[in-house]
Amino acid sequence: MTDKELWQSVLAQVQFTVSRANFATWFCNTEIVSNKNGKVSISVPNSFSREWLGNKYYSLILKILRSLERDVRLMEFIVNTETPLSIKKRVSLPEKQKVVDDSQLQFLEFKVNQKTNLNPRYTFNNFVVGGFNELAHAAGWAISENPGVNYNPLFVYGGVGLGKTHLLQAIGNRIASLFPEKEIKYTPSENFISGLVESIKNQEIGEFKKKLRKIDVLIMDDIQFLAGKEKTQEEFFHIFNSFHQNQKQIILSSDRLPNAIPALEERLRSRFAGGMMADIGIPDIETRIAILKSKCEEKDINLSQDVLEYIASNIQNNIREMEGALNRLVVFQKINQKMPDIQVAKKLLRTLLLSPKKATSFKKIMRIVSSFYDLEDKDLFLATRRKEIVKPRQIAMYLLRQELKESYPSIGRKFKGKDHTTAIYACEKIIKQLKEDDGLLTEINLIKQRLYSEV
Ligand code: ADP
Ligand code: MG
Repeated sequence: MTDKELWQSVLAQVQFTVSRANFATWFCNTEIVSNKNGKVSISVPNSFSREWLGNKYYSLILKILRSLERDVRLMEFIVNTETPLSIKKRVSLPEKQKVVDDSQLQFLEFKVNQKTNLNPRYTFNNFVVGGFNELAHAAGWAISENPGVNYNPLFVYGGVGLGKTHLLQAIGNRIASLFPEKEIKYTPSENFISGLVESIKNQEIGEFKKKLRKIDVLIMDDIQFLAGKEKTQEEFFHIFNSFHQNQKQIILSSDRLPNAIPALEERLRSRFAGGMMADIGIPDIETRIAILKSKCEEKDINLSQDVLEYIASNIQNNIREMEGALNRLVVFQKINQKMPDIQVAKKLLRTLLLSPKKATSFKKIMRIVSSFYDLEDKDLFLATRRKEIVKPRQIAMYLLRQELKESYPSIGRKFKGKDHTTAIYACEKIIKQLKEDDGLLTEINLIKQRLYSEV
């Protein structure tokens, strides 16, 4: 058997054990690149795939390989930079943009397409790709070439200000240009909810659905707002199903994983998990600088490397805030007709950078943790062992310790009737679980992002 045939046989068997969506997501663009001395190397399109396959499918693949070739002992996944979906450089800058001045940019910002609701400002051209978003980008790009076929639904999740809306709209804009005949609709989920409620009130639900049926690509942003809205979820589920059955593309975003939206109905959740889920993490410093450079080009402003580094090292987990900082410098340059140097930049950005940093508090931790898990603030203080409360409470204790450096007895006192041993137990348990459970790690990172980005 050649390597190619061997891999074909493995894939044929894998297909029986994983869902179609998972298969398309994780096994497309994989192949055996070497097979000697009992060691098989499999190339995958990006580092995220490598991790995912390694964690979830290692033993399955190895078992199948062994059943076909007895002397296979070892297996490794390597990232192949030649596959079409992969991003060659770790950080790729978008193509050089046509120079537009700020007033034009602001004008563009308002020129939202009436029909699709898409803002032409958000494109793939000005979307910087790095390790933090490469999977989401690759999936989005693939969808725009072939909407409705592979990754359906696409579910993009990540913290605030990290590019979910930009990516969703870029996908929509690209589909619009490649498939002018397709009807595309972008809607923040809040608008969807109010539209639905309104149509029910005016007894126009039939009309509402009729309009939806015409749509080929539905892009719904920030679906965490569906949490707790039973009736809306019910309707959404039907719409979702009919889109799915008719091979119409659905693209969703949320600031948390579907299974971290407790009120979202189970059936809805399992549907999401059946498609493609891609997270957007936090860009590293070189990517943040690359993003700033690309924004400088858009805004036609020149800033020295030390100013860019200053911004990128002080604003770490919110691209929107980085842009806010940049805008201050743009205004300065416009008014004074000169480039702000590092001293000036430090002065201009002082208020912006100082305020949010350690602006977290006991109250804020309690508020953000409880809202993340769809609980009332007071629920975390209840004397109960209910699972849906115990876990958030332990996370709150862990964050009080990590973020505020509170002592264990003081943490215990804050939760009526608990002593320091309970606090120690909670923190140690979370620390231990974090080592084993990537889902928990994602949840806590998302919570932390909110702690430092919301006021
Ligand atoms: P989210 O929807 O996740 O809160 P947005 O998509 O609104 O975030 O992004 C916030 C700002 O950051 C936008 O102005 C967007 O253009 C910019 N941005 C986010 N990600 C990128 C990226 N990868 N490349 C360039 N700009 C980005
Ligand atoms: Mg958004």
